[in-house]
Order: sequence, then structure tokens, then C-alpha cells
Amino acid sequence: MTASGEEWTGPWDLVVVGHGAAGLSAAASFLERFEGGQPRVAVLDRAPFEERGGSTAWTSANFRLDDDGQLDPAWGKIVTETAGDEVNAGYVDTFYENCVDTLNWLRQNGVRTLTIRNAALPGMFSRHGYALQGGGRAFVEVFTELVQARGAQCFYEMDLVGLDREPGGPVTGVHARAADGSERHFAARAVVLACGGFEGDRQKLGQRFPGGETLDTVSRGTRVNTGRGIDAAVAIGAATAGDFSGSHLEPVDPRSEVTEPLVSSWFWGILVDPEGKRFMDEAATSFDMQFDFVAKEILARGGRAYAINDASVRSGNPYFEFLNATDVGPITADSIEELAEKLGLDAAALRQTVDEYNAASVDAPYDATALDNKHTVGIAPPKSHWAQPLTQAPFEAWPVGAQICFTFWGLKVDGTTHVLDTADRPIDGLHAAGEITGIFHGNVYPSGSSVLRSLTFGRIAGQEAAQALKAAALA
Ligand SMILES: Cc1cc2nc3c(=O)[nH]c(=O)nc-3n(C[C@H](O)[C@H](O)[C@H](O)COP(=O)(O)OP(=O)(O)OC[C@H]3O[C@@H](n4cnc5c(N)ncnc54)[C@H](O)[C@@H]3O)c2cc1C
Repeated sequence: MTASGEEWTGPWDLVVVGHGAAGLSAAASFLERFEGGQPRVAVLDRAPFEERGGSTAWTSANFRLDDDGQLDPAWGKIVTETAGDEVNAGYVDTFYENCVDTLNWLRQNGVRTLTIRNAALPGMFSRHGYALQGGGRAFVEVFTELVQARGAQCFYEMDLVGLDREPGGPVTGVHARAADGSERHFAARAVVLACGGFEGDRQKLGQRFPGGETLDTVSRGTRVNTGRGIDAAVAIGAATAGDFSGSHLEPVDPRSEVTEPLVSSWFWGILVDPEGKRFMDEAATSFDMQFDFVAKEILARGGRAYAINDASVRSGNPYFEFLNATDVGPITADSIEELAEKLGLDAAALRQTVDEYNAASVDAPYDATALDNKHTVGIAPPKSHWAQPLTQAPFEAWPVGAQICFTFWGLKVDGTTHVLDTADRPIDGLHAAGEITGIFHGNVYPSGSSVLRSLTFGRIAGQEAAQALKAAALA
């Protein structure tokens, strides 16, 4: 509002497109760093108020931090190796330099973080679990209030449709469509794009990889992320980066209506396809990498598998209950044949799969709490750990499907969030942060780093935009 109580219509010092981790961090840090009076900041969200915050509002926001609370050293290694010549080394360095400081900044601004000691799964990057207290939703609520208290205006149901830029010049504004269909123009001295990837657009997904057109989003908040920010920036000359057909998928219970009904019991049991056959090493790598690989293998097999275990696999397993985060219970049976019948699988085929698996298990103790090396010998695919024979009733099964969290292809940025053009020159006045930026390659995502990078680079985008306006004013 203006001093006379009318709605401010611009020009804006900053327009932020997106109201999740990256967008709210950008708005907050800009408001903090801006010099020269009360800044005019608009934050646009395509979603209505109740559904604001994109993926961020629906995530438990686990963090990829090591035993000492630092960004996992393996993150940079994986991202660098999978990117090869395409690596954005400046971005990787900036992330390491600013990640922990960003978490401290969140705490100073009223967001709480959790450290759950010695709670991590065997083989993970840390012994401890780290997350935002109250998940991403708590962050969205605290930071919405914070940016509004500092003078930002939030516009909901405001859908980005384009950016203003004279050829070769700076970005000078944003075009959006309001809920009633009317066009709105936001003239701006700087713009931060933070409106996610294209995980909510099945048509685009289907053009990128087989089965993409069938994928539901894991969270409701992500359905509005259809890649409009990427399209708008490309239309004014921005370059793109990241894996063209890469995405992060999760194995979920297709029967459940809850957000993120992860099924993870396959880690200690087996996974079979609709033919009743195993199709991958269920414990090939640590869980933080494996769950994405599992979802991709399931999608490649038509989108359906079954996680099966017996009573002995569950016994002494402290993770079992909370890792299957579905609100629908398992299908149980007193025999493998009965289980097959209940699942609609061929009983003889499932019996054969289980018999071969049981016979291939080496004679070693089963320990669900450690990488126990109780592996299989002589079957394909093998299983690396927890190959506990499935012999004790009750037998249990969860159906597992694949859903999408986010896409990897996005805008090309330098190490400090400036959007680059196709000649690798920064586009004046345009920054991007979070999932909208392309960084991951090889269809590999080291999990627990997406919220962190959205927060970290969102904060940097706001700082950089404030700094650029200060430099322009001095000039
Ligand atoms: C269920 C789930 C669990 C996850 N768990 C984790 C985890 O534990 N750890 C982790 O690191 N990551 C996790 N992730 C990934 C992580 O949540 C996201 O990558 C991250 O929050 C993205 O932040 P963002 O700000 O870039 O985008 P988002 O939070 O998606 O925000 C995008 C914003 O842009 C808005 N928008 C979209 N299109 C437009 C448009 N055209 N005009 C205006 N506004 C628009 C959206 O409404 C939204 O407000 C999870 C994701 C999901 C879905």
C-alpha cells in the first residue's frame, strides 16, 4: 500500500516470482540489504494463499549435513562427477561457503532447525538427521510474515506469463495473469525467478522421458510448477543447464492420498514387478540415493511394483514403521501363494522368485541397523545387504508406484544467481534461485540438498539484487 492507503502499482525495486524456499529467502535478504529507504518488493505466487509455497510447503525438509553439521562433502563430488564438462564449479563452491551461514540466518529470523542424534539409516552421509522443525511449511509461514512485516506485498493467484527485456538490455518487468484472467504488469528494477521446475506439466515430462506423461507430483503444492519461469527466461535469451531429461522421483504407495506416502521397506526385503520377479539390487547403495533409483526402475517397468517382506525382516528393525509413510497398511498373508493371490500376481512365479532368493542368501547374521553384508550369491539381480530369507509368516506387501518431486533441467546461472544468456553473459536485472536453476546431471540427485540450495541461493539472489541496485545508484 502507499502512504495514502492505495495499492502500490509500481515500479517495484524487486519482483520475486515464487513463494517457496528460494523466493521467500530472496525477498527477505533483499529487504535486509537494500539501501535507500523503504524498498518496494512484490512476491508473486501462482497458487492461492492456502496452497502457497510450492514444494517447500510440503517437504519435511531433511538436510544433507554430515556428522559435524556441514554440507556433506560427497554432495560436491557427486554433482561434479555426474556433470563432467558441464559442472558449475562456482555454484558448488558458493554452496559450500554459504550453506551453514544460511541456516544460522534462518535461526536468527525465527525458523527452528532440528538435529536428531544417531537417527540416520545405515550407510548414510551422517549418523544424525537434520531438518527444519515443522518442515518447509513452518519456514513458509515464518518467512511470509517476516517479508510482509518488512514491507513486501504478496500477490497470490498471480501467474507469471512473461518478462520485459529490450534485446541486449536489462530485464525491466514481469507480466502476470491474475485469477480473474486479467493481465498485470509489474515494472521492476530487478527480478528473481524462484518458481520451480516443470514437474507439474505431464506433457513436458512425457517429452523428456518415457512414462513422464503418467507421473503425479508427490506434493499438491508442486502441481503449479509447470516451468513458466524457465519458458519466460528462455524467451528473452536465457541459457539453460542441467540434465534435460533428469528428475527426482520417489517410490510411493499409490493407494494413499497423503502427501509423500513413501514406501521403503523394500530396502530390507525384496521388490518384485507385476510378473512376480525381482528386478534390481534393493540395497545396492545408501538409502538417500537408492530410493530415487528404485522409483525410476519402477517407472521403467510400467509404474508398479510390490515390496515384500516376512516377519523376520521386520523383527528388530527400528525403522520399519516410520519409513513406510503411507496411511494404508500392508497386504498380509500366511503364505507366499496367498500373498500372490491377494496382489493379483502369478503364485508360481512369486514362489519361484522367493525360493531362489532364499537359497541364494549367504549364511550370515541379519542386522537391520547396519550394512550387514548378508548378501546373495548366484542370482541376478543380486542383493548386497539384508538378504534375509523370507520364510516366516505373516508375509507382508506394499504396492509401490513412482511419483515426481522435481525436474533437473532449468536456467543457467553463475555462482551467484545471475541468469546467463546463451553467450554466458549475465542478463542484467535477472536472478534465479532454487529448483528453477539447472545443476544436476546424469539423472542423479544427492537427496537432502534441494531445500538447502533453494534457501542458500535465494538468500544470495536477494543480496546480489540489492547490491546491484546500490551500485547503479552510486553510478
Ligand atoms: C514431498 C516432497 C518432499 C521433499 N523432501 C525434501 C527434503 O527432505 N529435503 C530436500 O532438500 N528437498 C526435498 N524436496 C525438494 C524440495 O522441497 C524442493 O526442491 C524445494 O523446496 C524447492 O524450492 P523452490 O523455492 O525452488 O521451489 P518451490 O518451493 O516449489 O516454490 C515455487 C513457487 O513458485 C510458484 N510458482 C510456480 N509457477 C509459477 C508461476 N507461473 N507464477 C508465479 N508463481 C509460480 C509456486 O506456487 C511456489 O510458490 C521435497 C520435495 C517434495 C515435493
